[in-house]
Amino acid sequence: MTVPKQPTRSNFCCVACGHQRCSRKPVVRADPQRGALDLFRCVRCGLIQQHPRDPASQLTAPCPGHQIINESEASHWARAVQQYVVHLLPWESKPPKRLLNLGCGVGHLAALARRRGWRVIGIDNSPEAVSRAVVNFDLDARAGNLARYRSTLPPIDVAFLGDVIEYDLNPAALLEDVRAILASDGVVCIDTPNWPNRWRKLARARRLGLNACHVNLFDAGSLGSLLGRSGFSDIQTGSYSHYGNGAPSVQSDARVSVQPSPEPTTWRSNRLFNWFKRRNPWTTLKSNLPATLDDARRRVSEMACHRVAYTSKHTADNLIATARLR
Ligand SMILES: [Zn+2]
Repeated sequence: MTVPKQPTRSNFCCVACGHQRCSRKPVVRADPQRGALDLFRCVRCGLIQQHPRDPASQLTAPCPGHQIINESEASHWARAVQQYVVHLLPWESKPPKRLLNLGCGVGHLAALARRRGWRVIGIDNSPEAVSRAVVNFDLDARAGNLARYRSTLPPIDVAFLGDVIEYDLNPAALLEDVRAILASDGVVCIDTPNWPNRWRKLARARRLGLNACHVNLFDAGSLGSLLGRSGFSDIQTGSYSHYGNGAPSVQSDARVSVQPSPEPTTWRSNRLFNWFKRRNPWTTLKSNLPATLDDARRRVSEMACHRVAYTSKHTADNLIATARLR
């Protein structure tokens, strides 16, 4: 049987696996209004990635679509509770472990982790965010990237990368840096947008909920593949919904996409949105947002039953992975 030749695009070299063939057409087309860039799919590992790479797209300042820094205190605490339960609660211990919170932002998750007993170091690209983390919570937080601090960090038990890997021009090098700072039994936990999430599939739109600065978009296969190539084992992946029922931009994009449809279709689509909303166990966080650090600490215990099962189903909007050093 003759296997059809895969299309070749000149100069493509996958940033995850080094393969030199990608999809013939962009999976996501450039959108000048949103500042988005052409994204292609590697035909070997499946990573969807900006090609050619444009260093100007790196986050040296908050991306126009990335206004998390300006969210309300209650929203910050709610997100911190959710990410703590999903990623860090399973690894709590005594004596306390050392946590690296890469992409610590203004410091709510790091502050919550410290209150739960961790020894915490935060790193974030945004000097403004780090400054607020230090002033507000007196955290050990540092501005810059991991490569800058790699040689001076103590051995890390758990490295959490929250909303980081999708921005990095060289995710393989980033994981190499993570590997270098982990203790011998260290663990990496990753949280990133999930390319095959149900919202995007539902509306059949190509840029649903995607931030214009996201240069890598993963599914479970491509993220697991990258972790394996980077020297990690015991790789597990899963997905979960943002406590606000999917990133608000995802849902609003999806609703806009179905609005031009005939009225019965729109009605059915809205009923489906609301069904997903009721099925999301995290919405109790949204209806009763934690207001303070102490409140957030208590809510972690309340929400502990919603730990995410690492399963083969990956339909929610946040993709997660955990892995150990090989
Ligand atoms: Zn690849």
